[in-house]
Amino acid sequence: MDEIQYKCPNCNADLRFNPKKQGFSCEFCDSFFTVEECKSANEQRLEEEKQQAPAHAEFAEENRLFVCQSCGAELITDSQTAATECVYCHNPVILNGRLSGEYRPAKIIPFKISHEQAIETFNQWCDKRKFLPKDFQTERQLTHLQGVYVPFWVADCHVHGRMQAECHQIRRWTSGNTEYKQVKEFSVFREAELDFEGIPADGQSKVPDDLMEAIEPFDYRETVSFEMAYLSGFLSDKYDVNKAQVFPRVRNRAVNGSDQMLRSSMTGYDSVRVTDSTMNILRTKWQYMLLPVWFMSYLYEGKQYHFAINGQTGKQAGTPPLNQKKLSLLCSGIAVGVTLLGLLGGFLL
Ligand SMILES: [Zn+2]
Ligand SMILES: [Zn+2]
Repeated sequence: MDEIQYKCPNCNADLRFNPKKQGFSCEFCDSFFTVEECKSANEQRLEEEKQQAPAHAEFAEENRLFVCQSCGAELITDSQTAATECVYCHNPVILNGRLSGEYRPAKIIPFKISHEQAIETFNQWCDKRKFLPKDFQTERQLTHLQGVYVPFWVADCHVHGRMQAECHQIRRWTSGNTEYKQVKEFSVFREAELDFEGIPADGQSKVPDDLMEAIEPFDYRETVSFEMAYLSGFLSDKYDVNKAQVFPRVRNRAVNGSDQMLRSSMTGYDSVRVTDSTMNILRTKWQYMLLPVWFMSYLYEGKQYHFAINGQTGKQAGTPPLNQKKLSLLCSGIAVGVTLLGLLGGFLL
């Protein structure tokens, strides 16, 4: 028998044969699949791959892969756009062939914020900050502001949730001199089938997660099917975190959401104590998607600073570098002011 490595149809992790149950268990998402289920899921996957083959071949033909010799970033663009420097560290990038078709994104949210608008947003952001280093807001620095499509995994999944709880209704009343308290105890059980759509998790470890979260949300209603032409003039980034790796983040969000939903359905009680809850995530469908971000990095006194603008909504975020010299001048200015005031106070007294 040929040895086939089955992938979990739910989270894409490698499945292991479980001799006790005579089927395949997934350690990542606690799913269990019979041999038949694995076979049909595998066939379905092969069928989908076959259907996508022409689009994948076109992608493999038309993309160009650039690699940063310094930080190892792998950047993609179309055959018309040339990349010269790395988005993350500004070192030169070199052409390194093409990316295979499996990296073709399924969906994309195209840029809506133009380069001019991004520069304006950046300048306004700088104007509000006083202690920036001198060369931070120069023409040269502005050339580092680049449009990047950041890779994202977006998951739709189905949750089968069960929750058991002990609930109480308490009634108090007084009759004459006697106070009464009535406690009714209920054993409550909830079972639900829940569908989640569009749970995002970014697939790029070089972009700081908190920076990406700070420029959320993206409006997924404006998602369109990926076309190579969208990459023209922009760079994209090859994902370096795969589905199985982001699955725990997706699972947390889906489980927490289901948990809240079931709890909120237990109304009409004065107290609710959950005694047991199981949430099984099933039928996770993944889409590999590109989201538009204007991105700038800046190396100042050995530290990298990042600035980002949501390329769809214009929302910006980042940590500005502080010029220590300017800052210490201001600090001594404050100290002088305080001393003078003290003297003045003394004098007036
Ligand atoms: Zn799994
Ligand atoms: Zn680099």
